[in-house]
Amino acid sequence: MNETINVRRTLVRVGTEYPMVGTLAFGVVDRGTNVVEVRPTSICALSCIFCSVNAGPKSRARAAEYIVDPDALVNAVEEVASYKGTRVEAHIDGMGDPGNYPYLVDLVQEIREVVDVISMQTRLYMLSESKIKELEEAGLTRINLSMDALLPPLARKLSGTNFYDVNSVLRKLGFILNNTKLQVIISPVLLPGLNEGEMEKMGRLVMALKMGDRIKYPLLIQKYLRHKRGRNPIDEEDWDSFWNHLRKLSLEVGLDLIPTGESMSIAPAKELPKPYDVGDVVEVRMLSPGIFNGECLAVPLRRTGSNIYDRVITIVGRPCIPNKRTRTRIIRNKDNIFIGV
Ligand code: SF4
Repeated sequence: MNETINVRRTLVRVGTEYPMVGTLAFGVVDRGTNVVEVRPTSICALSCIFCSVNAGPKSRARAAEYIVDPDALVNAVEEVASYKGTRVEAHIDGMGDPGNYPYLVDLVQEIREVVDVISMQTRLYMLSESKIKELEEAGLTRINLSMDALLPPLARKLSGTNFYDVNSVLRKLGFILNNTKLQVIISPVLLPGLNEGEMEKMGRLVMALKMGDRIKYPLLIQKYLRHKRGRNPIDEEDWDSFWNHLRKLSLEVGLDLIPTGESMSIAPAKELPKPYDVGDVVEVRMLSPGIFNGECLAVPLRRTGSNIYDRVITIVGRPCIPNKRTRTRIIRNKDNIFIGV
C-alpha cells in the first residue's frame, strides 16, 4: 500500500563553515573512548514507532536534516583519531540511517587509513548487494544490523512504514554471510509488550546461521529507553527485569547476550578538550535551523580552524536568523555536545 507524506524541513548541506564537533545531529561525537562516532547524515526513510531520535518523514519534531560534505567529515575523523593516539574504531551511526549517505563508500575508503576498525549501524534495506560488496572492499569491518522483529507484519508496524520488508533485509543478511567476510551484529531493541517473542527467534536465527563464527557477540539486544524528544509508545522496564530477560534468553538459546565493554574492545581514550565551561558566554553567528523545532545551529566568531578545539553550538528557545551575530550562554557541555541559550 502506498503512503503519501508531506514533509517540510530544511535540508542543510554541512561544509567546512561548521566545526564537525559539538552536536549530535552530524559530524563526530567523542565520548572519551576509543570508539569515535561518525555521523554523516540525519536522514531516515522509516518512522519507527519507538525512535529515540524522532527521525523519519512522520516526525513532527524535526525542523532540519543534514548531509555532511565527505571531505570535511574525513578531515575531522583524521584529526580526532590522531589526537586519540590509540587504536580507534570509527562507528558510523547518527540521528538517521547512514545507509542513506550518498558518499558512504568514499567515507569508508578515506577513513580506513586512519582508524583500525570501521563499523556501521544500519537497517540495511537501502543497500544493494553490490553496494555492500563495495563497502567491504572500501574497508568496512562490521555491520550492526538494526532489526526488531522477524515477523513481517510486526516488523512493518514497528518501522512505522508500509514499505519496510524484513524478508528483503534477511536476504541481504544471507548475501553478506555467503559472499563477504563482514562481521554482523544483530541489534534489536527489546520493546516489552510488543516484540519480546521475537528475541528468541533472533537468537535461534543467529545460531542457525553460525554468525558467532565471525564475532563473539552476534546478537546484542538493546534496552528500550524513553527519550524526551523521542517517540515513546510504551513505558520503560526496569534494568533488573531487562538483565533477567537476557540471562533467561541466553540459557534458552545457548548464546551469551551480555558482553562487557572490554570484550567489545571499548576502552577509555583521551577525550577532546572542552573549549567552553557551563556558564561561559560565547560570541557566535547563527547559521541554520537545529535538528528539532526551536533550535538553531551557531558557530563561534573566534575559531582555530581545528576540529580538536572548534565547536558548533545548538542555541535553544530563540528565533533562528541565519548570519545574525549574537551571544549565547552555555548550559550544557557533556561529551562535547554544546547547548546554549
Ligand atoms: S529507529 Fe533508526 S531506522 Fe527507525 S526511524 Fe529512528 S533512525 Fe530511522
